[in-house]
Amino acid sequence: MTEFDDQRARMVEHQLAGRGIRDPRVLDAMGRVPRERFVEPSLVASAYADGPLPIGEGQTISQPFVVALMIESLGLDDDARVLEVGTGSGYAAAVLSLVAGVVYTIERQAGLAGAARRRLAALGYDRVHVRHGDGTLGWPEHAPYDGIVVAAGGREVPRRLRDQLAIGARLVIPLGRTRRAQNLDRLTRTGPESYEHDDLGEVRFVPLVGRAGWSEDRPGGIPGMSMWGQWRRPVADTDDPG
Ligand code: SAH
Repeated sequence: MTEFDDQRARMVEHQLAGRGIRDPRVLDAMGRVPRERFVEPSLVASAYADGPLPIGEGQTISQPFVVALMIESLGLDDDARVLEVGTGSGYAAAVLSLVAGVVYTIERQAGLAGAARRRLAALGYDRVHVRHGDGTLGWPEHAPYDGIVVAAGGREVPRRLRDQLAIGARLVIPLGRTRRAQNLDRLTRTGPESYEHDDLGEVRFVPLVGRAGWSEDRPGGIPGMSMWGQWRRPVADTDDPG
């Protein structure tokens, strides 16, 4: 085992299983994707820390627990077709591709989209398709989706994303009345015009911008705040990941 394999195994045990992530396919996928390859070279020593990390352009790779929670909450089958809004580093898309069949992911920052596309190809994640654009409009050519993950905080569920969800499928999105903090909302499409909501807890994500998001005047979020993409509630029942 390399040092990173060891850190990854401990992350799965303490940060994920220790906090209630149960789906064996999600735990297995999180135990396989090399998170150290998705962070800047200067941050590899912190790749398995229990929090988000900066990835440039004012954006972050989300906390491992939040990635696992969002993916588990979708209840995906092996052959599911999934849409992700907010590719960022490509880390969550890589994990999704090991749990589902195919992943379509959209990133609005061209530099991040290009870097993620190259990184995913180099690592062999060939079931992930990256597009540069406004994810609040969805990716209608491949709809309907068996699951949708929105990895940035919005004010409401973008209508186009709701419409691109298969009946019975779920969408997870951080929703809040301000840019600063959100609750993770899970929407289940129960019929052509009917949806159910569950609240999965308090989180903090970078803002979802674009047509059905916040305005783009401060796309990188709040200056001076760096801890995005994380669970806000202290979690008591876990060991110190060390
Ligand atoms: N899933 C990522 C983390 C995402 S951070 C990972 O695993 O690394 C949120 C990302 O959402 C940022 O990169 C931001 O640029 C992007 N974003 C914000 N609004 C967007 C929109 N309307 N369409 C696509 N991407 C968006």
